Amino acid sequence: MIKHQVIVVGGGLAGLRAAIAATDGGAEAVVISQVYPVRSHSGAAQGGINAPLGNAEDGKDDTWERHALDTVKGSDYLADQDAVEVLTKKASSTIFELEHWGVPFSRTAEGKIAQRPFGGGAFPRTCYAADKTGRVLLHTLFEQALKRKIKIYPEWIVLALAVEENTCRGLIAYHLPTGTIEEFQAQVVIFATGGYGHVFARSTNSLINTGSGMAAAYYAGAPLKDMEFVQFHPTSLVGTNILITEGARGEGGYLINKNNERFMEKYAPKAMELAPRDIVARSILTEINEGRGIEDSYVYLDLRHLGKEKILERLPEIRDHAMHFSAVDPVEKPIPVQPGQHYSMGGIDTDIDGRTEVEGLLAAGECACVSVHGANRLGGNSLLDTVVFGHSAGVVAAQLVQGKPCVEDSSALLNEREKVNKRLRVLFSGTGNEDPAVIRNELKNIMFDKVGIFRRGEEIKEALSSIRELKEKYSRLRVIKSTRIFNIDFVRANELKGMLDLAEIIACGALQREESRGSHFRSDFPTRDDANWLKHTMVSNMLEAPQFSYKDVKITRWQPEARNY
Ligand SMILES: Cc1cc2nc3c(=O)[nH]c(=O)nc-3n(C[C@H](O)[C@H](O)[C@H](O)COP(=O)(O)OP(=O)(O)OC[C@H]3O[C@@H](n4cnc5c(N)ncnc54)[C@H](O)[C@@H]3O)c2cc1C
Repeated sequence: MIKHQVIVVGGGLAGLRAAIAATDGGAEAVVISQVYPVRSHSGAAQGGINAPLGNAEDGKDDTWERHALDTVKGSDYLADQDAVEVLTKKASSTIFELEHWGVPFSRTAEGKIAQRPFGGGAFPRTCYAADKTGRVLLHTLFEQALKRKIKIYPEWIVLALAVEENTCRGLIAYHLPTGTIEEFQAQVVIFATGGYGHVFARSTNSLINTGSGMAAAYYAGAPLKDMEFVQFHPTSLVGTNILITEGARGEGGYLINKNNERFMEKYAPKAMELAPRDIVARSILTEINEGRGIEDSYVYLDLRHLGKEKILERLPEIRDHAMHFSAVDPVEKPIPVQPGQHYSMGGIDTDIDGRTEVEGLLAAGECACVSVHGANRLGGNSLLDTVVFGHSAGVVAAQLVQGKPCVEDSSALLNEREKVNKRLRVLFSGTGNEDPAVIRNELKNIMFDKVGIFRRGEEIKEALSSIRELKEKYSRLRVIKSTRIFNIDFVRANELKGMLDLAEIIACGALQREESRGSHFRSDFPTRDDANWLKHTMVSNMLEAPQFSYKDVKITRWQPEARNY
């Protein structure tokens, strides 16, 4: 059994920031990560990170209050406003700290941190490093972790949390390169395991983003919140669904249909291409559904008028992606784009310090729901969320372990280990003939087609019955190869259980919410209904079945209003 004071699960931005803060707070903290930390999905973030610095010529009047209002309005009033205040008040100092740690932000002519406009923002407030913002942030935080000699366990995959009397005692993890399965005892566990993108087809996320952390927390008794709110990014490359950053529109890119019309004029006459993502994604799909898409499946993102110099300076990687994956040079031709699943607004329910309902289990970043994004996240706010709330979770973890002696060997770990062993025996000696890869693909398509950008009660019900059939098939899996070493089949088959359960939770939440709010659009209930639905959806794992309840939204100073852009 391996023992540490604080175990952070996840080597992305939220996890690294948490581990750094816990270490600085005097705790002994380590990081467990399914992939080497710098390969976490955070490194794929392109467009930037928000803070009301007021550095842009037309952004001098920006304030944290304005950033907060934009975030709350962007969230369609479902965000908890006390959490949004924390996020936006801390934004500027967070950026300065990152800058002092070495993040090479792009600069204005006077040498200040450059800021570009992003969707739903009143001012240009998205700080960026060309179109590689996530990568430079992640490498900088990784350096800070190395400087503090924080121990990393790369390629360890957490299979389950060990909880007794609603207190987290540690976890069970699988070491991919050697096949070892180990118990890790901890006084505090921080989950920073990212989103569940691949529960849906056409996701912009890394392949490892399957929500295995959210599922493990849910099985361990931590409720999930607002899971029906799934962000679809308006612009991903047709075919691969590699993201084309909102920064491309922030720099002035146009969206055009097959008739060469800038169709956003009809849907958001003021904000145009820089309306929030939920609105732009629905507009694109409406154009396609009404026959104005190209080949009935996509629209164009046109950057040609920006000129080669600006594209090379501000969007070099976007150009690279378009050239390599779509054979289109955006300097000369428009990029074919379509909406793709992008972000999980919902997640493990936490308070403002990252505490979950399970004692000793904290969560931060995309796997958590504090909630600052409500029904729709604004671009540039997620990177900020990971760093701000990753930091608070680390600080709280260090306080929790202060003077607390390491618990003696807990039976919870041994019990959980036994359950994991049982699951392995079932997976390795299956007698059925169902292929987990087939189940996974069917699930992803059902979710994209029936619980996607436009939802209808009847279709969600069909999705639910298909998901339940797939769950039944999952109980009859064919045997997977039994080697323990580097067994990706095992990893995939194991995480599929969580994906099926998360899909069911997302679909149930979507069916029950009979209104349209942010990313959740019900064609059969097309308006927002504050009287009945201004509330968070909570779901707990009771007796193996999801149990739904609702919780009030915290409103501090911004009363819900109509959302016009
Ligand atoms: C292509 C793309 C571009 C984006 N661009 C932007 C942007 O410009 N601005 C913005 O604000 N947001 C952006 N986002 C969103 C943002 O990048 C993410 O929400 C954020 O980086 C998530 O960080 P995280 O630390 O929570 O999780 P991640 O970076 O996803 O890290 C999750 C970590 O958890 C580990 N992990 C997961 N499960 C397990 C397990 N079972 N056992 C062990 N380890 C596990 C993984 O190894 C990984 O280290 C973008 C997202 C994508 C997909």
